[in-house]
Amino acid sequence: MEPDQVSFQNPVFIPGPTNIPEELRRACDMPTMDHRSAHFEDILQPALSGVKKVLKTKIAEIFLFPATGSGGWETALTNTLSAGDKVLACQNGMFSQKWIDMCERHGLDVEVVSVPWGKGIPADRYAEILAADKDHQIQVVLATHNETATGVTSNIAAIRAAMDASNHPAMLFVDGVSSIGSMDFRMDDWGVDVAVTGSQKGFMLPVGLAITAFSPKAIAAVESAKLPRWYFDIRDMRAGYKINGYPYTPPVGLLNGLKTSCAMLLGEGLDNVFARHARIAQGVREAIAAWGMELCAASPELYSNSVSAILTPEGFDANALVSHAANKYGLAFGGGLGEVAGKVFRIGHLGSLTDVMALSGIATAEMCMVDLGLDIKLGSGVAAAQEYYRSDNSLSIQAAA
Ligand SMILES: *Cc1c(COP(=O)(O)O)cnc(C)c1O
Repeated sequence: MEPDQVSFQNPVFIPGPTNIPEELRRACDMPTMDHRSAHFEDILQPALSGVKKVLKTKIAEIFLFPATGSGGWETALTNTLSAGDKVLACQNGMFSQKWIDMCERHGLDVEVVSVPWGKGIPADRYAEILAADKDHQIQVVLATHNETATGVTSNIAAIRAAMDASNHPAMLFVDGVSSIGSMDFRMDDWGVDVAVTGSQKGFMLPVGLAITAFSPKAIAAVESAKLPRWYFDIRDMRAGYKINGYPYTPPVGLLNGLKTSCAMLLGEGLDNVFARHARIAQGVREAIAAWGMELCAASPELYSNSVSAILTPEGFDANALVSHAANKYGLAFGGGLGEVAGKVFRIGHLGSLTDVMALSGIATAEMCMVDLGLDIKLGSGVAAAQEYYRSDNSLSIQAAA
């Protein structure tokens, strides 16, 4: 991008990193602080307790690493498992596939349930596999709550129910990178043993933090887990937190941002945050229907409230739409990843977003599709979304929050 183009800023519609509210930009922008000074406690402790509330956990411990969501995956695996351990996972998109790849590179024995992209995690298949695992070889069950590549949300409560039905003692690790902070996440109710996210999605911050939560059971697994780890060892982090410090230099500005982000989310009210994302997403879906297009997600109960992956007509290159939007209108949509590259484009609608901002993304997608020759009527999707947003009286002035 030319320097003079950086001076204006459209909202981004990629499913992470997300738009950063001004308040959070300011919170992250701090002069250097001595992280060993007493002031650090006033940043660290509210960040830790805020994340606990957002995750709806009373029993888990939070560990915040200078890393990304992927570092959170590695934190989950290396602290709890040993080479050769058995893991059950489902591959239904790019992100679940990458986590499986990470397991394999760590020498774990992964039983992969593969489903077509656009489907959710089949809890019934998990139930069968767990029931058949009589001698409890499977140590960990992985679940990607929201598969960002396809816009599919899986039912974590159903996976927990499948585990409980067979009385299986495996731990449940959930990737909530593109759900947490935008969609309901119930760590304790769902019996999640490790939850993983990153700072740049629902928490609306710059990239740079792996946000993880460990249940008491997952913490207990650390002593016998033999996978090599140093940077991501939660025992060192835990010892640091006891004295309000870090085992190495903490990203103080980001942690201050996280403290502020949690205060924003909790101040708006988690239920209101989730309702806002459900409403914005439904408006986007109304527009997609008005265009006569379909989601990659196979059925309505799978529709994600944080990202919509939209199937484009045969012969149309969805990636061309993404580059056209960037080049002509200075607006970012998500491209298709892996198996669905060129077949879908994605509208990310997580993090800091209002109905009004969503309308600008819908309008721009329309212009791009018309520019590129698709048979779409300008304004059709916008009008459908407008009707939907207009009809919802629960709408309050979110932008002022
Ligand atoms: C973004 C994302 C990741 C990867 O996170 P990074 O912060 O890029 O490492 C993992 N899982 C899901 C579901 C994601 O959306």
